[in-house]
Amino acid sequence: MSHTSFDKDAFDTDAFQAALTRQWQHFGLTSASEMTQHQWWQAVSGACAELLAARPVVNSPKTKGLRHVNYLSMEFLIGRLTANNLINLGWYTQVETLLAQHDIKLSDLLEQETDPALGNGGLGRLAACFLDSMATVQQPATGHGLCYQYGLFRQSFADGHQQEAPDDWQRESYPWFRHNSALSVDVSFGGKLEKQADGRVLWRPAFTLRGEARDLPVLGYRNGVSQPLRLWQATHTHPFDLTQFNDGHFLKAESAGIEAAKLTKVLYPNDNHQAGKRLRLMQQYFQCACALADILRKHHTAGRKLAELPDYEVIQLNDTHPTIAIPELMRILLDEHQLSWDEAWSITTRTFAYTNHTLMPEALERWDERLVRSLLPRHFDIIKQINARFKKVVNEQWPGDDAVWAKLAVHHDKQVRMANLCVVGGFAVNGVAQLHSDLVVKDLFPEYHQLWPNKFHNVTNGITPRRWLKQCNPALAGLIDRTLKKEWANDLDALKELEPYADDAGFREEYRNIKQDNKANLARYVKQVMGLTLNTNAIFDVQIKRLHEYKRQHLGLLHILSLYRQLRDDPNAAREPRVFLFGAKAAPGYYLAKNIIYAINQVAAKINADPKMKDRLQVAFLPDYRVSVAELMIPAADISEQISTAGKEASGTGNMKLALNGALTVGTLDGANVEIAQQVGEENIFIFGNTVEQVKALIAKGYDPRSIYRKDKHLKSLLDELADGSFSNGDKKAFDMMLHSLLEGGDPYLVLADFADYCRAQREADVLYRDKEEWTRKTILNTARVGMFSSDRSIRDYQQRIWQAKR
Ligand SMILES: *Cc1c(COP(=O)(O)O)cnc(C)c1O
Repeated sequence: MSHTSFDKDAFDTDAFQAALTRQWQHFGLTSASEMTQHQWWQAVSGACAELLAARPVVNSPKTKGLRHVNYLSMEFLIGRLTANNLINLGWYTQVETLLAQHDIKLSDLLEQETDPALGNGGLGRLAACFLDSMATVQQPATGHGLCYQYGLFRQSFADGHQQEAPDDWQRESYPWFRHNSALSVDVSFGGKLEKQADGRVLWRPAFTLRGEARDLPVLGYRNGVSQPLRLWQATHTHPFDLTQFNDGHFLKAESAGIEAAKLTKVLYPNDNHQAGKRLRLMQQYFQCACALADILRKHHTAGRKLAELPDYEVIQLNDTHPTIAIPELMRILLDEHQLSWDEAWSITTRTFAYTNHTLMPEALERWDERLVRSLLPRHFDIIKQINARFKKVVNEQWPGDDAVWAKLAVHHDKQVRMANLCVVGGFAVNGVAQLHSDLVVKDLFPEYHQLWPNKFHNVTNGITPRRWLKQCNPALAGLIDRTLKKEWANDLDALKELEPYADDAGFREEYRNIKQDNKANLARYVKQVMGLTLNTNAIFDVQIKRLHEYKRQHLGLLHILSLYRQLRDDPNAAREPRVFLFGAKAAPGYYLAKNIIYAINQVAAKINADPKMKDRLQVAFLPDYRVSVAELMIPAADISEQISTAGKEASGTGNMKLALNGALTVGTLDGANVEIAQQVGEENIFIFGNTVEQVKALIAKGYDPRSIYRKDKHLKSLLDELADGSFSNGDKKAFDMMLHSLLEGGDPYLVLADFADYCRAQREADVLYRDKEEWTRKTILNTARVGMFSSDRSIRDYQQRIWQAKR
């Protein structure tokens, strides 16, 4: 980690101007005025990257004795970097001023950056927030991920249906990348094992490819720290394997080589769902092998012994996606360094820590043993040994109990279970919100908890206040600056001092005006991309997150239909005008999720075209939801929809971003909503719906959504209208998939069970909004009281409970 004192970061106008000049000269131009807007973005970013790279490296005394964190994640949803880096450097205003002399507006130029969408949703965005916070709190860290050529697909709508297009985000010329070929790593796959005379096994792989490191700088907030996000990109070592070539398997060897070249082409577009594809397992191993080789090279270069690895390094696994790193470290220690099993196992199990992100069975990774054996024969062998040794431990604790073993086994029923491997192979397991961590212990891993009670922790997720307040909501950040007159962006608990201002009418007016301006800003964007003119006097009701049944966008839809019905039946109904705003991508193969998108779009089209709904009700599904769109929607939101089935959303982080920016939450007691309610106070949030315990009880006694359908005439009429073609030009089958899942399909996420109470909570929100002062008071209290959801706090929790805990 490099560290300089803060004033080393002082902006040097001449140096910046000179770097800028080198940039346009490099483009082959003769003056700055010849640059396109996009070249301006390239040049400004390139100049910053160059000046950053030239800074002296000094180690901070603060970081002495801290274990270095290696954060392994298949996804880093970093969003645009240029604005964020300028803010963290403290250069934003100076660069803005310098560019103004060229008649260039910095904020316009920043729009030129394509989001690096190297993640799906919350899990990838969490990794990005954590890197930002680790740099800010001076936790030495390296992020390890993959450099996908195509990020998450681009979404558009054709007649309301989701269309996907490749996201060629131009990594080839991304100005923030640094490539150091000295870091390259060779990674092998396939082949077979040979037993040696001394009893050891030798892995003869079928083919090898090369990982190249592309580094992005992660900058601490105004503290001079820069540490890498290292993204590995696959290339060939040789076009094909020579041993196979000589054996006459020319085509076989070559096809393996061709497949290798595809390795880091695309990000798998699934969120909370495992597809079990061979190429995905190859990506996982490739990433882990590159990261481990890099970590060990650094360890050796520093002159440290292997046995000391856990004293200096910790490897944090972001979900089970990088689990194969555990047998990979064992393989290196056993086969490359000839350590004994016990020595290798002791090092490994003191190095790895695992973050669980879900309890849902379809998301828990299990790999077919044939796939693992064929791709990674040595690792499969090691996994079987881990399993066999662990079986003895289980047998001692539960002698002869096959049922317990069937749950705890790492390898069972011809499958390798990655979550179990993580628990057995690491020293810490954590959930991502208190409720979720409790369920990890109670429902997912009760026997493991009995075996190792001290392994289990909670670390509630957080978000970086730099991007999610200072950058995305500069007006509110400015108001907070003027009011608190102190730095809060790296000390979010300081927002507590805003509390008294909730009772200050002048402050409330300023706060409200900022929200209003942000709504107008979002409305301009919606006009531009959708051609729709939003009523900015309406409540902006926002549901933004991946499209998933458990997140229940269809519950939101039913409430919209309910309002629409009410307003048609009684044009004078006392309801505040509302604009419902959605943003969500569905995995391309998740047909039910796509059907929900279609339903929302069709309902939106009808409502928006209905003259009677003018200035009363609008619905807009914004296309291509991503970090930069979130940055526009969040500051403009009045209501934050966090309506997952209780027990299903591990934490949520969108809920935190919205509350911080002054939206009131309508939510279930799920994930971090529970802690948000505790922080802001029950009277400043709209909680509804069945609790985890009630959900369990409902299902246990045989939940039947059709009985609700029969009894609730209003709800029945809404579902019937969806089925009668009214919203689909007479097509009665248009929403069959969604309707079937809600009725005959058994409504697995209890949408109908929560509908009535959801509408009750929404009515309360409506009534409150009529009292502008009281509404604003509550939104200010939300901003003031969610300081604990800073990812800086999450990182300090990881330090205290896991990374730097006394051992
Ligand atoms: C924060 C964020 C998410 C996570 O949202 P949840 O509501 O917690 O699921 C997903 N996508 C993007 C672009 C985000 O910024």
